[in-house]
Parts: sequence; structure tokens; C-alpha cells
Amino acid sequence: MREIVLATRNPGKLREMGQIAEPYGIRILALPDEVEMPEETGRSFLENARLKAVHGHKATRMPVLADDSGIEVDALLGAPGIYSARFSGPGATDVRNNELLLERLAHATTRTARYRAALVLVDGELEWSALGTWEGEILEGPRGRGGFGYDPLFYVPELGCSAAELSPEEKSRRSHRGKAMRMLCALLAERA
Ligand code: IMP
Repeated sequence: MREIVLATRNPGKLREMGQIAEPYGIRILALPDEVEMPEETGRSFLENARLKAVHGHKATRMPVLADDSGIEVDALLGAPGIYSARFSGPGATDVRNNELLLERLAHATTRTARYRAALVLVDGELEWSALGTWEGEILEGPRGRGGFGYDPLFYVPELGCSAAELSPEEKSRRSHRGKAMRMLCALLAERA
């Protein structure tokens, strides 16, 4: 089994991406505690993911995978985008971010949005990347208790529910990160 380190401090992502990778003969390992995560100074999801993967690879000398993701809201011209985690400023929480998003959309006439994820794998001179998107709409109030981040406000039109109302398996089948991860794993499996 091929082993790849995931550069994240989010145990949920480790579990979700580990489950996707396993059928492709890939085992996802946690980043060792002593490796610090770099500051996300990139100007795109892809730049930030690459920054984390390069940093992790230099520190561990293992193949390192990193992701970066966020939500783009059309009525806000693509904001919060790469600033999704810190949308409501220093000390941002999911609840405050969601409250601010609802506030900003109070008079909006369109509520379309999409999640985006970028994944980058760095192994020596070799680099692979994959992008994934998930289209939806921003609800007028939270629905559901699952997921994290903006999921209670992210309405999935084809299912008639919010992302927070999906099981983890269903979310991972449809999500931006799930799509990008399956694409990357398929690419790696082809080259095995
Ligand atoms: P990061 O990729 O861990 O930096 O996450 C960026 C931020 O984007 C998160 O803190 C969430 O606010 C948002 N986000 C990214 N993916 C998701 C998702 O699948 N559900 C809900 N929020 C997400």
C-alpha cells in the first residue's frame, strides 16, 4: 500500500480522505505533531494547497498531500473565497461566519454559491493537483446538524436539503473535496 502524509490538523479531513483513498491502495497518514503548518499566504486555493504540501514534504521527506478549500458566493463577487475560515475576522468561528454571511446576503437577489477545493501532492520533483467544485445556494437560515463550516447554510438543490443534513458518506460522494480526492487517487493509481 502506498503511504501519503496529509498536511492538515483537521481529524475530520484525515478520516474522510483516508476512507476515499483506501480502495485505491493508498493509506493516508497524519502529519507528525512536530511539523508546523505554514501560514496560508497564497492568492488562490491551489497556491495555498501547494504551499502546505511543499512545506510538509520538506519537513517529512514523504509524499505529502495538502488541501485548501472555501466557499464563493456570487452576490459577494466570490467572497469569502480563500478567506472562508476567517470571514468574520480574528477569532472567527463557524457560527459567526455563518451569521455574517446571512447579514451580507440580507438584500441579495441571487443566492448561488459554490464550494471549491484544491489538492496538491508533492513527492520530490513530482507534483500532482486536482480541483473540485460543488454548486449550491445559500439558505436564509441554518438547517441540519452535520458537517462543519458553512454546511448548515449550503443548500443542495438536487437533493432538496442542506449539506449539514447529509450523512458523511453522502457528503463525501458529492462534495468539492470528495470529487478532487477521487480524481487525484485515480491519477495516482494509474501510475502505480
Ligand atoms: P480549510 O480548507 O481547512 O482552510 O477550510 C477553509 C474554510 O472553508 C473552512 O473553515 C470552512 O469555513 C470552509 N469550508 C471548506 N470546505 C467546507 C465544507 O465542506 N463544508 C463547510 N465549510 C467548508
